Amino acid sequence: MDNDSPREECGVIGIFAPNEDVARMAFFGLYALQHRGQEAAGIAVSNGVSIRMHKDIGLVSQVFMPQNLAPLQGHYAIGHTRYSTTGSSSARNAQPFLIETRYGPLAVAHNGNLINAATLRQELLDHGVGLSSSSDSEVITMMLAGAEGKTWNERLKNSMARWNGAYSLVILTRDGVLAVRDPWGFRPLSVGLLPSGGWAAASESGALRTLGCEAIREVQPGEIIALSNSALSVQQALPPAPRLARCVFEHIYFSRPDSFWDGQSVHHVRQKLGQALAEESLTQADVVIPVPDSSIPAAIGYAASSGIPYNDGFIKNRYIGRTFIQPTDSLRKQGVALKFNVIVENVLGKRVVMVDDSIVRGNTTGPLVRLLRQAGAREVHVRITCPPITHSCYMGVDMGSQEDLVACRMVVDEMRDRFGCDSLYFLSLESMLRAVGRTSGYCHACFTGSYPLAIDPTSVKTGFEKAIAD
Ligand code: SF4
Repeated sequence: MDNDSPREECGVIGIFAPNEDVARMAFFGLYALQHRGQEAAGIAVSNGVSIRMHKDIGLVSQVFMPQNLAPLQGHYAIGHTRYSTTGSSSARNAQPFLIETRYGPLAVAHNGNLINAATLRQELLDHGVGLSSSSDSEVITMMLAGAEGKTWNERLKNSMARWNGAYSLVILTRDGVLAVRDPWGFRPLSVGLLPSGGWAAASESGALRTLGCEAIREVQPGEIIALSNSALSVQQALPPAPRLARCVFEHIYFSRPDSFWDGQSVHHVRQKLGQALAEESLTQADVVIPVPDSSIPAAIGYAASSGIPYNDGFIKNRYIGRTFIQPTDSLRKQGVALKFNVIVENVLGKRVVMVDDSIVRGNTTGPLVRLLRQAGAREVHVRITCPPITHSCYMGVDMGSQEDLVACRMVVDEMRDRFGCDSLYFLSLESMLRAVGRTSGYCHACFTGSYPLAIDPTSVKTGFEKAIAD
């Protein structure tokens, strides 16, 4: 529940590094992507003949120990860190998915969500294909195994034509790693050159830099990039969609601030979001504080633009874990005080601007405001770096259902009264898009309801799980 922001998607990593310990490299890549999913992690490695894998529920550092990394020997690796976006959190949905096919072993790790997965799943079942999980990523894996084509690239291209929605994939075959991005470009995926001369692919450029990569480039929408030689092999499998739809929330919240998304520094964009917020909603105040950590750059931008001094107001306990691991709303409310302490002397008797990245369910803002008031803040003005979230996401981000969204149930004044703050302001859509540097090319459906693809509202996150239970 990290400050009531949308719940993350997943992180993927792919490695081609002959004569290196690829499993260990994948481990550190996943470690750098831990913020994208904390429910399960897995790594699969190919030695050119067979694929071995280890995956389990838990944080990357809990799932992997030296004794279960050691057997993962080979030249090629993929890894996944999961937050469930389709299917429940059970162990059977942990990734990668590894199967044996008529073309050899195949492992798949997926970030995103197919909006037509229910239909595709039924087709597989009708053809007698057995499924062991409730995940759309298994649907992707099984479709690939049965697809027509002489090569994995051909089979992928044929399958991509049927997949609607968000998919950034890393795919491990006996003799290579493929990095694939959907034609809309919903979720990020980049590749980079390893210091040893091999290649790595990762959800975020920040993870590639952790591995020492240079020459980092995005996998473009609709591209398949093969990492199995000294030179990358790039194929434009499908043309980019006419309406590109990069998830704007990568800038607002998901990505590490040291990552680049759409060619722009996430940290820099967040500062611009804060500046825009100050221009739109300047208020008389004594101090600007962030809700750590994702709002720090925006608060710096707000302070720089407004001339109001920046300071820390909350200290976050980084070791308590992200509070969304607590399952109920009532526990989440308690979680805020467990997670944040106020630096009393920085807010006592002061008019405080509290900058946060987003409000989803609305469970956290009120308790944070209360903490500031209890610490002696004279006024609390809440500033949010995106518009009110009024629509669910079907492309791989868990916003909850429509009725969970506080901005669906209340107008801004009602939210202000509920949170107990003196004022509440959400950045306008226009200013948000200006700050990210484009007025088109981004998905902003959770603010506007303007989905880049036709959505079947029955495609809920646990729809598959229900099908299995039924
Ligand atoms: Fe991202 Fe929102 Fe679009 Fe989902 S609906 S892909 S969270 S911008």
